[in-house]
Amino acid sequence: MAQRKKLIVGNWKMNMNVHQASVFIHHLSKKVAVHRDVEVVVSPTMLALQPLSLQIDRRQFKLAAQNFYFRDHGAFTGEVSATQLSGLVDYALVGHSERRHVFHEHDKLIRDKVQAAVRNRIKPILCVGETAHERSEGETTGVLHDQIVGGLANITSEELSSIVIAYEPVWAIGTGKNAMPDDVKKAVHTIRNQVKHLFGEAAAQAIRVLYGGSVKPDSAASYLAIPGIDGLLVGGASINVHEFELIIASAHHRADSPEAWAL
Ligand code: PEP
Repeated sequence: MAQRKKLIVGNWKMNMNVHQASVFIHHLSKKVAVHRDVEVVVSPTMLALQPLSLQIDRRQFKLAAQNFYFRDHGAFTGEVSATQLSGLVDYALVGHSERRHVFHEHDKLIRDKVQAAVRNRIKPILCVGETAHERSEGETTGVLHDQIVGGLANITSEELSSIVIAYEPVWAIGTGKNAMPDDVKKAVHTIRNQVKHLFGEAAAQAIRVLYGGSVKPDSAASYLAIPGIDGLLVGGASINVHEFELIIASAHHRADSPEAWAL
C-alpha cells in the first residue's frame, strides 16, 4: 500500500498584509505540532513570502506561492517568476479556479506554469474541477480529463513525482456548498485513472490528490477519510487560526489511524 504524506494547504488569497500574516503565523505556530506524516503549507500574499520564510520553522510550515509567471526572467513588467521564487517556496498553486475564471488562464498557460515550477524545483499544486454548469451537464469526467491532460502535457514520469493534484469543484469554492463524499471519491478515481493512463500504475498510486471547496473543521475529517484523498486545500477557513488549527488536527488524527493510507 502506498504511503503518501498528508498535505494541508491554506490558500490565504488576497487577505492579510505582511504584518497580519506574520502575527497569524506566530499564533498558528503555537498551536500546530510538527508531525512526521503531515505537511502544513500556507500560501500568503506574495509580499509576505520573504518575511515568513525567515519566520517559520520549515519542519512546521512550508510556503506556497499563489501565482507566478511561466517565463524565468525578462521584460514582463509586474510579474514574478518561478525562478525568483525558487528557494523561497516549496509549492505553488497552478490553475486555481480563480486564476482560470477571473483571470482567464487557459490550459496552455497552465501547462507552461506547471513546467516552469518543476524546472525551478517548486512543486506545483495543479487545481482541477468542474463548474456548476459542467456538472449539471454531466461533463465532470471530461473536464477533469482535459485539465489533467492539458496541465501535465509536457511533464515526464520522473517530474510527476513532485506534482500534487487538487480536486476543487468550482461551485464548492468559497460558496459554503459541500461536495458529497461519494462524488469526491468518483472524481479522485477519475483523476488517478487519468494519471495511470498517462504515466502508469505506480505513478497513479504515488501522486498526492487533495480536495478543496468550503472545507471547515466539521467537514475536514469526512473528506480526509475518502479513499485516495491525501489532504485538503483550504481557503476561507485557513485565515482563521482556530479553524485552521482544527483542520490540521484532523489530518494528524487521520495520519495516525490504521486506514490512513488506503487508496
Ligand atoms: C480555495 O481557495 O482553493 C478554496 C477551496 O477556498 P474555500 O475553502 O474558501 O472554498
